Parts: sequence; C-alpha cells; structure tokens
Amino acid sequence: MSELPTTPSSDANPLRQMLLAREATLGENMLIRRLLPHRQRRMIGAWCFFDHAGPADVSQGPGVRVGPHPHTGLQTFSWMVDGEILHRDSLGYEQLLQKGQVNLMTAGRGIAHSEESPAQRSDVLQLAQFWIALPQDKRFIEPAFEHYPELPRLTHQNALLTVLVGEFMAQRSPVVVYSDLVGVDITTTQPTQLDLPLNPRFEYGLAVLTGHAQADGQDLTPGSLLYFSPGQSHLTLNITEASQIILIGGAPFNENIFLYWNFVERNKAEVLESIRLWHETDHFGVVKNYDGPPLAAPKLT
Ligand code: MN
Repeated sequence: MSELPTTPSSDANPLRQMLLAREATLGENMLIRRLLPHRQRRMIGAWCFFDHAGPADVSQGPGVRVGPHPHTGLQTFSWMVDGEILHRDSLGYEQLLQKGQVNLMTAGRGIAHSEESPAQRSDVLQLAQFWIALPQDKRFIEPAFEHYPELPRLTHQNALLTVLVGEFMAQRSPVVVYSDLVGVDITTTQPTQLDLPLNPRFEYGLAVLTGHAQADGQDLTPGSLLYFSPGQSHLTLNITEASQIILIGGAPFNENIFLYWNFVERNKAEVLESIRLWHETDHFGVVKNYDGPPLAAPKLT
C-alpha cells in the first residue's frame, strides 16, 4: 500500500468521516443506497443528496417507475452509469437518459417530473442521482431542464476521468451550476494508483460505485462515502480492481437548508407552503404522458 498523502501545514488534521449508506427504495422496486444526506454529514459543498441506484436487473417487471412529483430550491443531477431512464417534466421535456449522459433539472421556484424505465431498455440499470442546493439568490429562479449527451473526459494514470461538474485537471464540464462545485467519475479497468489534485478550499466525498479502492488507509466499497474537510491539496487513491468511483466536492455551503421530501427550503413553514402548492394548486405544472398517479407528499407534523 502506498504512503498516505501529506496534508498541507495550514490544516494538519483535516477531518475524515466514513459515512455508511442507508438502503431505500426508489419508486416501486429499485434498491438504492442513500449516501447523502447523512445524520453525520448533511451536505458536501452544495451537494445535498446522493443516491446510488443499482446495479440492478430491470429486464423483468416494470423497472423504475417514479410518478410525477415536485421539486423546489435545487437542481437534480442524474448520471447514468448503465442502462436508461426516461425523464418527463412539467416544462414539457421528455428526454431519454443513456449511459454516460447527464440530465440536469433546475427546479428553482418549482417544477414537477417523472422518471421511468423505458419499454425498450438494457437489462441492467445503474444510476447516480444527486441534488444540488441552490444558494439563496438563485432559489426562486425559473425552472429549466438540460440534457448533456457528452462530458469532458481525460485519461490519467490508467483511469478514465469524466468531469461531471465544475473543473478538474484543466477540463471544464458544461453543466450549469450556481456554486463552486466539482464532480468527477473515475473509471478503471485494472488496478492503478491515482494521484488527484484537490482544491484546498473544497470539502470532498469519495464513493465507490463498483469495485474497491483505498484512500487514507480506509477501504472504500459500495455503500460508503469517505468525507474530507477542506485543507487538502491532493489525494492518492489506490484502486485495487476494475472500479467506478465518484468524487464530489465544493466550497462549504454556508446556508442552513431545510430538506423535506423533494423540497430544499430554509424552514418548515416554507416546506408546508410547497406541500400546499403541490396538493392544492397548479404551481408546479403538469407532467404529461406518465402512466400513473402523481405522488403525495408525506405529512409533515
Ligand atoms: Mn425527482
């Protein structure tokens, strides 16, 4: 095993946390690992939600079916690792998301969408889905949707890096976000040791989707997220087998969010108002052509 990276003298003891996922069900039948939010770590930068779905066999049955539901105050960022998902939203977008592509939905003041496995699909589905909290001055922007069929890629020390969000090793993702963030997919087909530059202003999280790696003497396997506090300028990752790994990071988000169901607000009163708007008004618009009922918000007491 390699020597651990030396931490900068300005921060001799950056905080490390190993966060273990909770298992949950997405829609009707998809097992997912929820890595964020975590009781011990609500956010990493503006990243406030991280689900790892699959890999799962969706060749039989309905696959993923998540009926129309609203969002506010966030961007949903969907990274398709394997397979396909069909997105529909209340702006009228209908977009198939395929392996290696990103869907970015900016909820702003409010949008509704559905997600489902298309009838014609691959046998295996694997998806990393994130939420990015919008800062105060962008919380109420108009909703928007963008599909990114390709993202910048580079090879580095036998790994294929895809820059999902922000800038990494001089490559910049076209994905539009509203705070200082980075997201990188690291894919290897063989064991390798990777030296990665970090931004000392950022906090980071490292999650193995498939495979195995070691960082800072910690074993990383699917279902765990290793957190690093700011103050570190590089990371050595010892990848021991063919693996797919996600690195997320960002400047600490200096606002207290109130996350409930699919809403990112600032307090309970705002959540109650969003629930009311969803159940009683057409504020979020209508998702057309989804074959099923909209989802109801769980009661907030
Ligand atoms: Mn959603």
